[in-house]
Amino acid sequence: MTLQKIQRAIVFTTSLIIASGLNAQKLKKGYPIKDRLISYKQITLTTDTSQLTEAERKCIVHLIKAAQHADNIFWMQTYMKKEDALKGIKDPDLKQFIKINYGPWDRLNNDAPFLDGIGSKTKGVNFYPDGFDPDQVMEDMKFRVFDPYTVVYYFNPKDAEKYQKMGQMPPPRERFPSLDGKEIEIESYSMVYQNELIPLTEELRAASEAIQDEDPDFAEYLTQRIDGLFTNDYVMSDISWLNLNSHLDIIIGPIENYEDKLTGSKTSFEAYVLVRDREWGKKLEKYVALLPQLQAGLPVEEKYKPELGANSVTEKEEPTTDEDGNIIEEGVEAVSEIIEIEGFPPVEKPEKPMSQLAVFDAIYYAGDCNSGSKTIAVNLPNHEVIQEYFGTRRSQLKNTMKAKFDEIVIPISQKVIHPSQRKKINFNSFFSNVMFHEVAHGLGIKNVIENPNQTVREALGATYSAIEECKADVLGLYMVTKLIDMKELDGDLEDYYVTFVASVYRSVRFGASSAHGKANMITYNTLIKSGCLENTSKGIKVDIPKMRTAIEGLAAELLHLQGDGDLAGVEKMLSERGKIGESLKAQLDILNAANIPVDIVFDQGIHTLGLDKYAEESE
Ligand SMILES: [Zn+2]
Repeated sequence: MTLQKIQRAIVFTTSLIIASGLNAQKLKKGYPIKDRLISYKQITLTTDTSQLTEAERKCIVHLIKAAQHADNIFWMQTYMKKEDALKGIKDPDLKQFIKINYGPWDRLNNDAPFLDGIGSKTKGVNFYPDGFDPDQVMEDMKFRVFDPYTVVYYFNPKDAEKYQKMGQMPPPRERFPSLDGKEIEIESYSMVYQNELIPLTEELRAASEAIQDEDPDFAEYLTQRIDGLFTNDYVMSDISWLNLNSHLDIIIGPIENYEDKLTGSKTSFEAYVLVRDREWGKKLEKYVALLPQLQAGLPVEEKYKPELGANSVTEKEEPTTDEDGNIIEEGVEAVSEIIEIEGFPPVEKPEKPMSQLAVFDAIYYAGDCNSGSKTIAVNLPNHEVIQEYFGTRRSQLKNTMKAKFDEIVIPISQKVIHPSQRKKINFNSFFSNVMFHEVAHGLGIKNVIENPNQTVREALGATYSAIEECKADVLGLYMVTKLIDMKELDGDLEDYYVTFVASVYRSVRFGASSAHGKANMITYNTLIKSGCLENTSKGIKVDIPKMRTAIEGLAAELLHLQGDGDLAGVEKMLSERGKIGESLKAQLDILNAANIPVDIVFDQGIHTLGLDKYAEESE
């Protein structure tokens, strides 16, 4: 198919939405847009550019341009093409607010629509057709329809006629009958978004060439990522990425599934352009080595905490055996077998484990990670088999974290935490809590105990993200507690706990439409119920020993829900504790009245970094 035809196909599929959008470019009457804008504090994303080589500067320019195309794709996934969404919007505030939200729904206010004539946001956004019911998908077709890298449509015979009249080929789609007699079609991301993917990959190719001589490993990863974007298969590039120790980095592609609130399976495009902070990275390495020990110490029965795979850094003491007691070689064969079952090419297990705790300055955010609440730490890749056999990289985005701490956590603590405990709040504790949150994603259990072929993610569906985020928060704090006991972590437990509570308020403000927001509501309500947060007239006082017990209890509860794949239990927890009650609402009102920012937005890009010269050269 030619590029032009593909573009028309995309316009065609989104034309219905655009038609309704064009009539609705005015702010909804009475929507407090000025207040909402104040809730985002603008900060400048930068790094020490004097440390960058000439080649790195050239490379960064191309990486940022690639990221901008990923941003365009996210617009199409969640709403419509960016230029169409902003067409006819005169009011600069409204324009800015639409950009922040990637559409007309207020992400940090439970997706409330703020444009005139716009209804509520559909759960499946543009991943699925309007009115799509996932329960009508035939059982044996689910793995295709819910593939993370396809868009779903309903077959409409009139579409084919229209293409015929235009003398065009209809887009290449697979078709499946559904239980309700409709016909479902799927089309791969590489086809649907081809008009953005072509320039995106050209930029990645140019970035790869720019850095080839200085950092051939990073250059190679970039070319593998290009292959992934065209084949919808990211296994090779993900594994190579885990092994990188490059100064520059980019995370780019369809990655997280937060935006698919219908089934939690479709992935959204995003990009982070990063510069590694090697000094901080070294400090963190030692915690990776402690992972197996921490997993073993989790407060649950053995079956809920299986031995870690390549996540663990130390050699396993006991050889792994199969059902008959035969020792399984922990080598290439075992890995390739699993990978083949999953339908991927065989990949050799690395000689040394690849799990990494790394620290970066983020210099560009695009797409999903730039919408709503900005991510300050990333644990990737998401693929469970890769995680199990090759590990994960937990990236701490230090400059963004520091900005959120200074602009949000500190002002919040001044309003809600008891004066006697305010001095306990510090960046070191905040940084560590977020870091251990990321580590904790790698702990616990990935597959349902009674049905090992099913992942916890599959068992819990759309509720998975919130529960997994809650698990990471709580197990992260559990680990902090253990490490202080073991004298492996400096500082006072009270610092970490009080800082944690202050940042719970920060995250609850993301609202129930955010997995992180919901996760923090569960944590908050559990802590309140356990009596470890005392609500005094001067603010919240944290009872450290009680909180220690409460955290342990919630950790066990979450690990049980996940290991049992207990969807009913999770839904019960979410309906009882995944919400904002009276006392929390009162405190949030105080924060809102004080105009404390909810989140940050970025002044970012080639110009912000002072790299215009390199952009002109690359034109
Ligand atoms: Zn997380």
